[in-house]
Formats: sequence, structure tokens, C-alpha cells
Amino acid sequence: MIACLEHFVHENETDTYSRNDDAALLCSDLDIQGSIDYASPTTSLAAKDFGGIHAAKPFAVVRPAGADDISRVVKFASRSGTVTVAARGNGHSINGQAMSDGGLIVDMRSMDCSIDVVRLHSGDVVDVGGGALWEDVLRRCVLGYGLAPRSWTDYLRLTVGGTLSNAGVSGQAFRHGPQTANVTELEVVTGKGDTLICSESQNSELFFAVLGGLGQFGIITRARVLLQPAPDMVRWIRVVYADFDEFTRDAESLLTLPEGEGSSFDYVEGFAFANCDDLVNGWPSVPLDPNQSFDPTLIPCSAGQVLYCLEVALHHRNVDRRSTVDRVVERLLGRLRYCEGLEYQVEVSYMEFLLRVQHAERQAKANGIWDAPHPWLNLFVSKTDIACFDRLVFQKILKHGIGGPMLVYPLLRSKWDDRTSVVLPEGDIFYIVALLRFSLPYPKGPPVEEMISQNREIIQTCIKSGLGLKLYLPHYTSEDEWKQHFGNKWTRFVERKARFDPMAILAPGQKIFSRRN
Ligand code: FAD
Repeated sequence: MIACLEHFVHENETDTYSRNDDAALLCSDLDIQGSIDYASPTTSLAAKDFGGIHAAKPFAVVRPAGADDISRVVKFASRSGTVTVAARGNGHSINGQAMSDGGLIVDMRSMDCSIDVVRLHSGDVVDVGGGALWEDVLRRCVLGYGLAPRSWTDYLRLTVGGTLSNAGVSGQAFRHGPQTANVTELEVVTGKGDTLICSESQNSELFFAVLGGLGQFGIITRARVLLQPAPDMVRWIRVVYADFDEFTRDAESLLTLPEGEGSSFDYVEGFAFANCDDLVNGWPSVPLDPNQSFDPTLIPCSAGQVLYCLEVALHHRNVDRRSTVDRVVERLLGRLRYCEGLEYQVEVSYMEFLLRVQHAERQAKANGIWDAPHPWLNLFVSKTDIACFDRLVFQKILKHGIGGPMLVYPLLRSKWDDRTSVVLPEGDIFYIVALLRFSLPYPKGPPVEEMISQNREIIQTCIKSGLGLKLYLPHYTSEDEWKQHFGNKWTRFVERKARFDPMAILAPGQKIFSRRN
């Protein structure tokens, strides 16, 4: 991998020099309220991301004071022949998507990210800066107003602009759609440097282009996000299945229960795990509390090498009696056919529930696996092919696990707006599969090349078997692959690019379009 990188740098040296000259010229001319940093460690940090696989050093990192500064940066870049601009949220991409090789990084986290709750006739919303972390949005809305956004990601140290540029998916998406379906208005600086307000009724083409647009059409400087009353508490539950068909039947049956207090769960996710006592990949990954244990004698003899866990949650208020909540949970669980006895429940506050991954983050940082490379693979697989995916991938290629969670849960297509730039597989129901590898750096863990090649094997196996899938948080390097990814949405994507970022200045790390001059 390192050898490949060196080769790449040599081949592109001349290019990089001329780009750096352009960037130097334009930066000396740039009159912004914020600041520009040309030096390491700032530029070196912007050359890395959470994936830890790709590296591309920018010429400079811009810390904008506001949308005006971003507009100036983009306009200056467009006057140069070669300079590109990438917004960097919290740099939690896997494959260098927020990088700009020899170009400019706009550090969105340094922008003023005020978080203002607005009470409108039509309902409560929060106006939030594109560089704000969802974690901060949660704290401000819940602690200040008893309100909360409806749709989340599992992990909240991601920026509003970063997740809206992809989709933003977690266990609430079956009901409320992804985060992109819970935004009513955006402020965007386009690739022409224009600052525009857009919504379903105003500059609507830009609005839908930017949502799930992989940063290709504009930089999101502000978003208006829908809110709902925040619950106080969450009953968090996991139940185990030995049979994939039963797991999917039950998971899908929960998607269409009527909405309303106590009528259905408020969160539905699931994961596959190895049928063994391995601490990370096996039975111990299921219990929710250190006082709970996994009794393997309860696993049916028919079970194979992989088991499945349905994870659900029910919101409730402090005033609700424990017995009432127990009754609702019992009724809802009573419909499900999980392995008797393999059921785990805990009661946590709403904030604790939404911040649950931060606990894992602390542990991973202490172990050294948070800062190791993360060759993650995220897929959307159509419902008709998920059983085949299970047989070919979970039960064969990944039967021993991946050293981290292997999420698999269903989503409803009707909750996703087809006008956004996100692409989905066919069918009313599709599954998200997230292979979230957490391994110690080599030689304590597997070599990163091995994990990348296993990801490739998974994709190739699925393609060979004709499975309907799309990459989520996609990563390709050739136009042909991108064309295939977008399918019949490719023409619209290209037209949107020509309209909003005709010089292809923005988000070069996605490697979809080349800079024009
Ligand atoms: P960055 O990595 O900084 O940027 C991502 C892309 O968006 C880049 O192309 C960048 O140029 C562009 N961009 C950034 N900010 C803006 C902006 N303001 N306007 C326009 N373009 C912008 N995803 C889920 O859906 N659900 C999850 O549960 C989930 N959990 C995760 C957990 C972890 C630990 C990690 C590392 C990732 C997770 N993700 C999840 C993926 C995550 O949503 C994406 O990687 C997201 O892009 C990261 O946000 P970021 O702020 O770090 O963006």
C-alpha cells in the first residue's frame, strides 16, 4: 500500500507543483475574515481521515469565519486553473473523500456553528451550522428545550454537513427516513461561489442535489432540521436468532407497525455475529450490561456458524410506570420468534442511548484500535437478495467475524426522497449492511491489505451472483464505476454538476469528476 502511494506521488509531482503555485497565488490574494494555515501539523492532519488508508496533503487549510469566507475561497479557486476545494467536516470518511491533494481544505468545524431552536407554526426546527457535530445538536436541543432531531446516526461525532452529504442512517430511519429526509432548508455555497438558501420550494434542484450529493454541488453552511419532543428514557433490547429468515421476517414486520405511543418500537437495527465465545466477534458482543451473560446452551442445535441479533428500543417518559413499559415491551416482543431466553434489556436515558457509541470510542482509543486503519464497507442490499447475501457473505466469507460490528437491518424505501442524490437498490425494502472493522494495527491485527481484499472479494461475489446492491458512502476511482453506481441517475448527477459546480472544484476526494479549467 505504501509503495503504491509513493508511486502515485512521483507520477503526479509536476501536477502538484503547478497546483501549489496556483494555490499560493490565490491565497496571497484571499481576503477573508477567518484564517489560512499553510503549515504542518494542520495540513498533515487534513491529509488523513478515519479510514487511515489514503493520504493527500492539501496546500492550505482555510478556517472560515462564515459562509462569506467560503464563497470567497470558492470564487478564487474558480479563477485559478487547477485549484480544488474540499469541505472537511470531522474527517470521518474512510477513503479520502474529504481530502484535496495540493488544493484547499475548508475546515467546517472552525466555522461559527451556532445551534438555534426555532418554534414555527408548522413545528419546531433547529438551525445549525454545517460544521456542527450532531452530538452538540443533541445536547443543545434536549438540555435546552426538551426537543430532539428525529433521525440520527449511530455515532454522533460527525458533522451535520458531512452526514447530509451522504444520507445519515440509524435505527430511527425506518420510521423517519434518513437524516436527509429530515431537513427542510439549507444554506449552500455552490461551486460557483454563490451563497443560496434552498428548500423543497426554493432553489429546489440545488436542495435535492446537495442532499446525499457527496459534496459535489455545494458546501452546506447551515441546515434547518426537524425536531420532535425528546423522550426521557429508552428501553434498549437485544434478542437473538439462529435462523436468518426468521430474523429478517421479524425485523421487517416491525417496519410497518402503526406509529403511536406503545404501538411499535422507536428504533430497529440488527447485526450478525459469530456463533462462538470470541470476545469481540461472538456471544459476548450481545449482552447490554456487564451483569448479563450469554448462555450458549440456549442456542438451538440447528444453528450454524453465524447468529443474528435484532436490536430495538422503545422511548418513554419518566412519568410512565415501569410496569406499563414492561407490558408494552412484552406485547411487542411477544410477536417475535427469537431464541427463548436469549433476550437482553436495559433502561437508559435518551442521551445515554444516543451517545452509546462514545463509550465504545473511549475503549477503542485506550486499546489503540480507534486510530488504526478502518477499511469499512457499507452496502445497501435489496430485500430480495439479502438471504443470498447472508449465505454467501456472512455464512462463508465472514463466518468468523471482522473484529467489529457487522450491522444488518432493513429500511423502507418510501421514507427516502428519490429527488435527492442518494442511490438505492430496487424494491420497497432494502437492507443496510455495515462491516465496521476495528482491528489492532499490523502485526497485532491483520494487514490492512488483507481486509481491503476481503472487502473486494465480498463485492465481487455479490456482483458475480447478480445481487442488487449499492455502496453506501461509495468509493470508486473510475468514471465507469461511478456511472454504474448511479445507473439511470448518472445523467441527472452530471447535469447537476454542470449547473452548480461546472469547473469541478468541489470535493475532489470523491474522485468522480476531474477539475476543469
Ligand atoms: P467528512 O469525512 O469530513 O466529509 C465527508 C464528505 O462530505 C467529503 O466529501 C466532504 O468534502 C463532504 N463534506 C463535509 N462537510 C460538508 C459540508 N458542510 N457541505 C458539503 N460537503 C461536505 N454514517 C451513517 O449514516 N450512520 C452511522 O451510524 C454512521 N456511523 C459512523 C461511525 C463512525 C465511527 C464513523 C467513522 C462513520 C460513521 N458514519 C455513519 C459515516 C459518516 O456518516 C460519514 O463518513 C460522514 O461523511 C462523516 O461525517 P464527517 O463530518 O466526518 O465528514
